[in-house]
Amino acid sequence: MEKPPQPQPKIEPPRVEKIAESSPTYQENRYSNEYYHDDKKNLDCFGNFVFDMIKHIREKAIPVEERLQKFSHSPVIQESIRDVYERLHITPDEASAGIHEVVLKNIELFRKLMLDKNYTVSTNNFLYEATQNPEIITALRQEKQSISKSTIRRHRKLKDEQDPISRWANRTFGSDPSVDSLIALVGAKKISDELWLKILNNHEANFKEYLREFREQKLPALLEQFQNTIEAAIDRDELPLSKDLVKKRLGQTHVTLKDALHSALEKNRGRFNPETDVVSVDSFIAHPARKKQLEYTFFHEMFHALSGRLITKEVNEEDDELGEIRHERIGLHFNISREEHQKLQRFRWLNEAITTRLEDKYVPPPEKTPERSYLSYEKERELLELIMTKGKAPIDEKFFTAAYFENLDPTLPPEKRLPAWKTLSQQLEQSWGKGFLNRVDASIKKIGLVKTIEAIK
Ligand SMILES: [Zn+2]
Repeated sequence: MEKPPQPQPKIEPPRVEKIAESSPTYQENRYSNEYYHDDKKNLDCFGNFVFDMIKHIREKAIPVEERLQKFSHSPVIQESIRDVYERLHITPDEASAGIHEVVLKNIELFRKLMLDKNYTVSTNNFLYEATQNPEIITALRQEKQSISKSTIRRHRKLKDEQDPISRWANRTFGSDPSVDSLIALVGAKKISDELWLKILNNHEANFKEYLREFREQKLPALLEQFQNTIEAAIDRDELPLSKDLVKKRLGQTHVTLKDALHSALEKNRGRFNPETDVVSVDSFIAHPARKKQLEYTFFHEMFHALSGRLITKEVNEEDDELGEIRHERIGLHFNISREEHQKLQRFRWLNEAITTRLEDKYVPPPEKTPERSYLSYEKERELLELIMTKGKAPIDEKFFTAAYFENLDPTLPPEKRLPAWKTLSQQLEQSWGKGFLNRVDASIKKIGLVKTIEAIK
């Protein structure tokens, strides 16, 4: 019998259940997910988006008849092509106008990056590597005639003024006339689409080479260094981890470089995606001159990868095998990202504070400078320090670390599931009163980190 239609159907949130990392369901669902594999194939390089867009535009410009011919064997496909593509088809003129627009937007984005001091080194590199390519040099010489000497001078000066580390760039590149004219062409938006695409292509080829070198040379050494450090700490009983788990997590984590120009990463130039086991590191710090910063970032992201997890699976009533897997807690960061639970994003500050403390403890200190010049999450660390030392009783760091690495095993009875988290909660309650951590979290969301720290003081 059919149900009568409901006047206002209530949308039920999907039912989720907690699952264990070791369960076959987890393994199967994860590895059969396309996104899990696709994230590893991504080439996060400045300009990729332009190539994708152009491909898309060019495909739309293929006449419908040409498409239909390809599928002469299947009237059904032909029919759907007629339906969809006839509407979407554009003329070759429209296509080149579309391409021009995409390229122009990309050039504008680059101009912005060029004037942003956080990107100086990367934009300079980008321009410099372009002028090492003979084909680009030839095209550049022709287009240079369209700009005056004063425009070249003005743009060079503009860039230098905006840029507090331009001394570094000047030392590296000198006043290379090709770089100067390229800056002026981009600055005055007089560069042709064709030349810009050549430059993007060149950049992609260089980035791929850089990535290959990183994966073949730097990465194996970093992984070994990290694993040895962690195993030694386990032997000293400092970290509540098993060597098997460390080996497993390190084995499944895919480390890659992300072009510094592509997008801003975490404050410390790295990112870990628990849903796909991908660690991305900013290509800026893969440079030999920034070896130490690379170590700190790499250790930081790998600690995220080793930290405890709470995993859930969406229960799909029709097909139990293919419910979506989510990591709702990584370390102490609760990140329940299903839309109806958006408010349950909690304790990121605490998670980052602990992660950076682990970095400090386990990355060998720099040889020359005793201090780190690129401290990240300073305020988050300050807050954690306050919580550990200024309550009714001090709270030892080990309680935080234990909770940070704790994995939820849903096969255990509920009272035995998260013992370290329970101990930490008791410690916090004794020192600061009931519900303290949630109050801090709510305060950060309301008045921000700095004011919250002042209020606690
Ligand atoms: Zn982090």
